[in-house]
Amino acid sequence: MINIPKGTKDVLPKDSYKWQYIEENLRKIARLFCIDEIRTPTFEHTELFLRGVGETTDIVNKEMYTFIDKGDRSITLKPEGTAGVARSFIENSLYADTQPTKMFYITPVFRYEKPQNGRLREHHQFGIEYYGSDSPYADAEVISVAKKVFDSFGVKELVLHINNIGCPECRKRYNEALKDYLRCHLDEMCATCRERFEKNPLRILDCKEEKCKLITANAPITLDYLCDGCREHHDTLIKILDSLGIDYVVDPKIVRGLDYYTGMVFEFVSNNIGAQGTVCGGGRYNDLVSEVGGKAMPAVGFGMGIERLMLTLENLGLPIGEKNKPSVYVAPISDNARDVYMPIVAKLRDMGISVESDIMARSVKAQMKFANKIEARYVVIIGDDELTSGVVNVKDMSSGISEEVALSKLTEYFGGKI
Ligand code: ATP
Ligand code: MG
Repeated sequence: MINIPKGTKDVLPKDSYKWQYIEENLRKIARLFCIDEIRTPTFEHTELFLRGVGETTDIVNKEMYTFIDKGDRSITLKPEGTAGVARSFIENSLYADTQPTKMFYITPVFRYEKPQNGRLREHHQFGIEYYGSDSPYADAEVISVAKKVFDSFGVKELVLHINNIGCPECRKRYNEALKDYLRCHLDEMCATCRERFEKNPLRILDCKEEKCKLITANAPITLDYLCDGCREHHDTLIKILDSLGIDYVVDPKIVRGLDYYTGMVFEFVSNNIGAQGTVCGGGRYNDLVSEVGGKAMPAVGFGMGIERLMLTLENLGLPIGEKNKPSVYVAPISDNARDVYMPIVAKLRDMGISVESDIMARSVKAQMKFANKIEARYVVIIGDDELTSGVVNVKDMSSGISEEVALSKLTEYFGGKI
């Protein structure tokens, strides 16, 4: 037997309504905020992620699904959604349109990680990207989209952590201070962090190793090194969030795992789904577009893990949609009935009524059992007697009450009822 690859999951027919419910809700919220969908390919040139995501990130260092295609090109399966959108924004000259450009995506994401609860090798993200505005009002709107998503699913338990990691100017001063602090601890840090020390010391704050976390616990924080512009941006954002009644904690330990972030960063964290508690992470990445070859363009956005969102809903016992149940089950129970039932079923479906019927040549008893199992609301039996009399019984399965209806009037009957 061939098994599913490690770290991937099937969504089975009995559960797919949950995904549809979540995705429909996400699309509805995107519409509320006037955000249009963008769809980019599942794979891109590897170079895009090397430049976009950054060479010192976990993603580029160890998590990418990269292969050489038959044309000898290095190709990588999307390890995140933002770089592809930036590529498309430049390639399609979206910067030449009136700004802002507000986009969302729902996409599979591929990362070679150690599979565990809430950590998969193929997961899915809902993400938004706002291009064109450097204003804290854009940051606040992006954060409110995530907040709206959680509110709409009834999730109140997530805590918003925000921080500001500074623009390249503040970062220079901060990196020096951080390096001064870390220098005497170099020997005690993990190999990856020792490497990060010269290349990108800020990354060290994101290390998951206990010994590194202990060292960075008292490290200097970026908020103390902000330039006037970044300080004002941060303070204004806080004021807007207060005016919106959005609760947050300012958390200097949030630095995010991707190199492209500048300035404001945030995460929505859950205490209900175990160690992989970050359901949504985002921030500002003003340098991304120029890093992947475009003209400088301010941008802000987030990525939200749909599996982690679903885990949160499940663990909190919140509703995740309802399984589709047929309104009508039509049961043909004789050869003659089988000659006529399909056009009746087709007509009902033409009217927008969901109908299930028999394609298994089952007996009456088996069909009734099946209609019960799939929880059809009404059942109509068509046999030789019904064909002769031109009258059928329509049974309401919840009340058990039957009504006689002329076969020729069946579609009108349901049209008025469903
Ligand atoms: P983590 O620190 O948990 O590895 P990350 O910083 O790598 O997360 P992002 O790159 O910001 O995550 O991705 C955005 C969101 O996608 C995360 O907040 C999380 O909800 C989800 N996510 C990331 N990696 C995975 C994964 N391997 N499996 C399932 N969901 C994931
Ligand atoms: Mg990660």
